[in-house]
Amino acid sequence: MQISFLKDLATPRDPTSPFSFLNYLFTKGRLQKFINLGTFLPARREYEDYMRWCASHFSRAVRYGTEITRVDAVHNPQTGKVDRFTVHWIDLATGAPGSATARNVVVATGGSPSVPPLFAPFIAGPDARFIHSSQYATSIPHLSSALLSAPAPQHLVVIGGGQSAAEIYVDLGVRFPKSKITLLVKDSSLRPSDDSPFVNEIFDPDRVTPTFSLPPAERAAKREKDKGTNYGVVRLELLERIYSELYAQEVDDPVEERWRCRVRNSRTVVGVERLGEGKGGVKLEIARTGEENGEREVIEAGLVVFATGYVRDAHVRILEGTRGLLASEAVAAKVTDAPIVEAAPVAEVAADAAEAVPAPEVAAEVAAPATTAVAETTEAVPETQAVPETTAATAAATVDTTAPAPETTTPSPETTTETTETTTTTTTTETTPAPASAGAASVDEVKISVSVTSTPAIFPVGRDYKVQYAPGAVEEGAGVWLQGCNEKTHGLSDTLLSILAHRGGEVVQSIFGAGGSK
Ligand SMILES: Cc1cc2nc3c(=O)[nH]c(=O)nc-3n(C[C@H](O)[C@H](O)[C@H](O)COP(=O)(O)OP(=O)(O)OC[C@H]3O[C@@H](n4cnc5c(N)ncnc54)[C@H](O)[C@@H]3O)c2cc1C
Repeated sequence: MQISFLKDLATPRDPTSPFSFLNYLFTKGRLQKFINLGTFLPARREYEDYMRWCASHFSRAVRYGTEITRVDAVHNPQTGKVDRFTVHWIDLATGAPGSATARNVVVATGGSPSVPPLFAPFIAGPDARFIHSSQYATSIPHLSSALLSAPAPQHLVVIGGGQSAAEIYVDLGVRFPKSKITLLVKDSSLRPSDDSPFVNEIFDPDRVTPTFSLPPAERAAKREKDKGTNYGVVRLELLERIYSELYAQEVDDPVEERWRCRVRNSRTVVGVERLGEGKGGVKLEIARTGEENGEREVIEAGLVVFATGYVRDAHVRILEGTRGLLASEAVAAKVTDAPIVEAAPVAEVAADAAEAVPAPEVAAEVAAPATTAVAETTEAVPETQAVPETTAATAAATVDTTAPAPETTTPSPETTTETTETTTTTTTTETTPAPASAGAASVDEVKISVSVTSTPAIFPVGRDYKVQYAPGAVEEGAGVWLQGCNEKTHGLSDTLLSILAHRGGEVVQSIFGAGGSK
């Protein structure tokens, strides 16, 4: 792991919690030996086991194998306000749909693979030769024999410049000692991650409020400055290992083109094509970064791994059914049926919305034909291979009410925001500075994968992670909270484990009041 075991799921908020990593070690009989290791950084396998161990205590409260498809608002017919939400799901084993209603819903769906538009048509299909780094650990053992067999090119390519890319590049080299391995890095160099103590303070829990209080432009500038802690960077020890292995090849052969393993900096993939029938590989057209229309080099590969990061936009799709409750939507949609907001006249909502939540402008970067489009690589979280593969119903209903929902779900505009696997759109929205108070909404740049046929909704959250629907739209005591997708407003720690214990506690407090998080 790239984080101290002390920043586990509980310790930073409550060091006496039974769910600390230390208690896990003690329970498993490994505490002494772990101490002897003299490390703060547990192996990912062990950390995964720790998380499974924690989760096992809550299995009665979790419905696994369930995909949340939608959350709809339910109006109280007496007040006209929303007083609960219906959470819809599909049982992944049987395909059976289900639902529950709840006053409070927490959406914590994590990240989904970010794939450059150029590659989207390939990764969406059945071709196992294109894999995202998130699938690497589970896919690669099954691919091995197929990949090694000719006539597929014995050349394996990794795209990306972060921790994941570097680890996968090294792993492929070990796993396939007879294959050529190439790491394509868009940047001019692989760069080290900064985990020095002063900089690391940005991940302290008490940094969230000051970050949230900054005007969006300042926040974005700060994020950019601190990115080297987390995005598109590699731990120094790994960089040194890669460098020394490259050097060893140079000692044997000064001609780099003949090396088995290569790191190609300042390289961008500008075209992809499948090799002819029966060849089982792909042709990649490579250009120098910044010279995409210049000279191209062609390489044939038997496997392409995209270590191109993650997007955190699942909540946008899941909450589509509630977008009509947003102040911005009340303006945009001019819903004429039953009023969405009882307490706030439309004119008032319009004024608020125009100031705080302008409609996003969709930059329509549609995937061009596969062989001509320019790859847009998004480096993201420090990626690794061993992500725990659990399928939990994370958009969980925290309070389950069984009363049937009245047929008064919120009308939403006639648009769809279904993600198409072939279209990735980057939406950038800057807003005026948001107020710093706990309940105040704050919105700025968001990145999402959506169909370009619609404008995705923006769900602004307060400091307490609660979605800020239009004033008066949702009753006191009901609401939706977002976890892990608020980096733009809450800072770089938002997508990481660093302050997860505090974040979780703050959400519980926001729902149940002080003392509720114990
Ligand atoms: C490869 C990798 C390595 C990392 N290494 C580190 C590290 O070293 N240090 C660090 O601090 N952080 C690290 N992180 C970040 C860390 O994993 C996250 O901070 C942490 O997982 C966030 O937890 P979460 O519960 O918010 O999201 P996740 O752990 O991503 O969990 C989200 C869950 O929601 C489920 N889900 C998604 N959509 C739905 C749906 N529609 N219905 C039902 N369930 C759904 C998913 O299946 C998943 O189980 C790493 C992340 C990655 C991807």
